[in-house]
Amino acid sequence: MTTIILVLIGITLLSIAILISVRPWRQSLISRRVFATYKRILPQMSDTEREALEAGTVWWDGELFRGNPDWNQLLAYPVPKLSAEEQSFMDHEVEEACALVDDWKVTSEDFDMTPEAWQYIKSKGFLGMIIPKKYGGLEFSAFAHSQIVTKLSTRSSSLSVSVMVPNSLGPAELLLHYGTDTQKNHYLPRLAKGLEVPAFALTSPWAGSDAGSIPDVGIVCKGLWKGQEVVGMRVTWDKRYITLGPVCTLLGLAFHLYDPAGLLGDKKHIGITCALVPRDTPGADIGRRHVPLNAMFMNGPTRGKDVFMPLDYVIGGPGMVGQGWRMLMECLAAGRSISLPSSNAGMAQLTARTVGGYARVRSQFKMAIGRFEGVEEPLTRIGAYTYMMDAVRKMTAGAIDLGERPSVVSAIAKYHVTERARQVVNDGMDIVGGKGICLGPSNFIGRAYQQLPIGITVEGANILTRSMILFGQGAIRCHPYVLKEMKAAYNPDAKQGLLDFDEAFFGHAAYTVKHAFGALGKGLTGSHFVSVPANVAPETRRYYQQLTRFSSAFAFLADISMLVLGGELKRREKLSARLGDILSMLYLCSATLKRYESEGRQQADAPLMHWAMWDTMYKAQMAFDGVIANFPVRWIGRMLYRIVFPLGHPYDVPSDRIGHQVAKLMIEPSASRDRLTAETYLPKVASEPVGAVELALLATIEAEPIEARIRAAEKAGALADNPDANVRDLVHAAFAAGIVTTAEYAVLKRRNELRDIVIHVDDFPYDLGRSRAQALLHKAAA
Ligand SMILES: Cc1cc2nc3c(=O)[nH]c(=O)nc-3n(C[C@H](O)[C@H](O)[C@H](O)COP(=O)(O)OP(=O)(O)OC[C@H]3O[C@@H](n4cnc5c(N)ncnc54)[C@H](O)[C@@H]3O)c2cc1C
Repeated sequence: MTTIILVLIGITLLSIAILISVRPWRQSLISRRVFATYKRILPQMSDTEREALEAGTVWWDGELFRGNPDWNQLLAYPVPKLSAEEQSFMDHEVEEACALVDDWKVTSEDFDMTPEAWQYIKSKGFLGMIIPKKYGGLEFSAFAHSQIVTKLSTRSSSLSVSVMVPNSLGPAELLLHYGTDTQKNHYLPRLAKGLEVPAFALTSPWAGSDAGSIPDVGIVCKGLWKGQEVVGMRVTWDKRYITLGPVCTLLGLAFHLYDPAGLLGDKKHIGITCALVPRDTPGADIGRRHVPLNAMFMNGPTRGKDVFMPLDYVIGGPGMVGQGWRMLMECLAAGRSISLPSSNAGMAQLTARTVGGYARVRSQFKMAIGRFEGVEEPLTRIGAYTYMMDAVRKMTAGAIDLGERPSVVSAIAKYHVTERARQVVNDGMDIVGGKGICLGPSNFIGRAYQQLPIGITVEGANILTRSMILFGQGAIRCHPYVLKEMKAAYNPDAKQGLLDFDEAFFGHAAYTVKHAFGALGKGLTGSHFVSVPANVAPETRRYYQQLTRFSSAFAFLADISMLVLGGELKRREKLSARLGDILSMLYLCSATLKRYESEGRQQADAPLMHWAMWDTMYKAQMAFDGVIANFPVRWIGRMLYRIVFPLGHPYDVPSDRIGHQVAKLMIEPSASRDRLTAETYLPKVASEPVGAVELALLATIEAEPIEARIRAAEKAGALADNPDANVRDLVHAAFAAGIVTTAEYAVLKRRNELRDIVIHVDDFPYDLGRSRAQALLHKAAA
C-alpha cells in the first residue's frame, strides 16, 4: 500500500515537473489563467505613480530584498573620503560660517541670519556645492556635501537649511539634468555664486503628500512678451511651505499644463511641468513667510494668478513640457539621500556631545547624573543611535558618489535618521531637564527639540514614507520578478505580455520556494552554517549570518504577503509599514557593520556597534512578529511563524552590560567620543554654551578625585555642622577646613565656575514681549 502511495506521489510530482518544463503546456494550462486573474486584481496605476515607482536605481537594498546579500559587495564599496580641497573647505569656510551665526540671535532677535552671514555663504559658494566647476560651482562630492550640512546643523538650522536646500532637489539640480544650454549658461554661474537664490515650489494647500494632484495650472496661450506676441503659458498657482521662497530670486514652479487650443499639439492635458520663474516676473507674488517652529530659515507661500510667461521658462525648454513629474522623481533620491540624513545626524552629534558632557558636569545626590542607571539608558540610546545614524548617512552619500540614485535607500535613510534624531534629542532633553526647557542663549538643545518635527514632515512626511514607500516601492523595484510581472500585465501586446509573465511567474514561484526552505533551514540551524566573508571582524561574524537569515526570511515573508494580499497590500498600510521596517533594519545594520570595518574595527567603539546592532536586530524581529501576528489569514500566519522562527526568537533586547559601556563612552573625553561627534562645531570659549560644556567636562574630570577626598572627609565628619558644606559651597568649606591644598582649590574653583555657566538658565524681564517690541520700535524710529 505504502509503495503504491509513494509511486502515485512520484507520478504526480513527475507530471507537474514535466508540465512546468514544457513551456507551451504550462502557458496554456497555468500561466494563461493566472495571468488573467493577475491582470484583474492588479491595481490601476496612474502615470505619476508609475513614474515615482520607476524612478531611481536599486542598490544595496536589492541585495537585502533578494534574500541572499553578497557581503563581499558591501565590504567592497569604497569608503567615502574628502579631497584635500573639500577638507580645507570643512576646516576653514565651514568653521567660519558657523562662527558667523549666533542661533539664539537668529531665532529670537533677528528672525534671519545676518546680512554678513548670508553674504559669506553666497560668496564662498555654499549654495553651489553641486554645481560643476565649469559653471563656477564647487563641484563637491555628495559625501563632502553631507559632511558640510552635518557640521552646519550642529550650529544652526537656519544656516544648514539655507545651504542644504539650494543643493537639494531644486533649480540647480533640475537644470543640470534637463536644462537647455542657454538656461545652464545663464543660471548656473549665477546660482553658484549666490547671485540667484533658488527655491522650488511644488506643495499646495490642497495637495501636500499627494503632490501629483496639485491644482496649480498653466494654460498654453498666446501673449505679449517683451513687446512681441509669443506662445507661452498663463500660470495660476498657490503654494505654501516653500523653503527660501520669501527671499528667492528664482522660483522653480510645478503645475499641470493644459493646451485647450491645441497650440502645441493634440494633447489637451500635457501633464506636470516645471518652470523657472524669476522673482520679478509681473504677477509673481513672493515674499511672505511662515514661521516653521521658530527655525527662522526662510520659508513661505507664493501665489500667482494668470501670470504670463514664455515657454522658454520651462526647464529644458518647450520640448520638456509635461515631463515635470518624471524630472522630480528622477532627481529626488540624490537630495533625499543627503539633506535630512545629514542635518538630523548633525543634531544627534550635537546632542551626543553636549548632553554626554552635561551628564558628567551636572551632579545630583552627590554623583554625576550620567552615572545613574536611569540616565545611562537614554545616554546609551543617544550614543548607539548616533553611531548608526552617521553610518547610514555616510554609506548613503557614498552611494550617490558611486553614481547611484537609490530611491528606496534614500527613503530609508530619510525616515530612519530623522526618527532616530527625534529619539536622540528627546532623550537629550530628558537628561538636561529644566535646562533644556527654558529657551535662551545658554540652551544648547531646546531649539533642536523644537525643530525636530520639521525633518519628519519634509521631503515626504514620515508616516507616508513608512506606510507606502519603503515596502511599496521596495517590493516593486528590488524584487527580481514583481516589476517584470507588472510590466507584462500592462503590455498592450497581450501575446508578448503572456510570454513575459510566464517567464517571470515561474521564476517567481521557484524563488519563493527557495526562500521558504532557505529561511527554515537557517532558522533550524541558527544560521551557524551561513558562509560569511573571511575578512570581516570576528566579533561581527554572527551579525552577518543572522542578517542573511533575516534577509532570506524577509524575502519569503514579502512574497507570501504579496501573494496572499496582492493589490490589497497597498491599502494594508500597517502590514506594508512593518515589512518596510524589516527591510530598513537590514539596511541600518549593513551600514553599521560597514562603518565598523571602514573605521578600522575600533575596539573602543565596539560597544556602540554592538548595542546598535542588537537593538536593530531586535526591532527587525519585532517587525516580523508584527506582520505574522496580524497576517490576515490566520493559518498562513501560524505557518509563517514556524518557518521564520522554528526555534523561537533569536534576539533579546540589548544587554545592560553593553549599554553601560556605551553610556561610559558618552561622559568622558576619548577618541571614541571624538569619532562619534566628529562633525560637531566646537567653539573653544566658555561664553558659547557648547564651548562651556567642553571646558566644564575637562575641569570636572580633573576635579573629581579631589572632590572624592572631600566627600570621604565629609563622611568622616570633618565638615559636620559647617553651614558651607552644601552642594554649592562645599569646596570653599573644604579649603577653609584645610582638606584641600591651594592648588587643588584652584582646580575646584575653576570647575565650579564652568559648572555654573553650564547649568545657568537664562531669564528675561517679565514683560519680555512688550519690552522687545518697544525696543524694536525705538530702533526703527532712530
Ligand atoms: C518647513 C517645511 C518646508 C518645506 N519645504 C518645501 C519646499 O521647499 N518645497 C515644496 O514644494 N514643499 C515643501 N514642503 C512640503 C513638504 O515637503 C511635505 O511634502 C508636505 O509638508 C506634506 O504635506 P502636508 O504637510 O500638507 O501633510 P499632509 O499631506 O496633509 O499629510 C498629513 C499626514 O498624513 C500622512 N499621510 C498622507 N497621506 C498618507 C498615506 N497615503 N498613508 C499614510 N499616511 C499618509 C502624512 O504622512 C502626514 O503625517 C515643506 C514643508 C515644511 C513644513
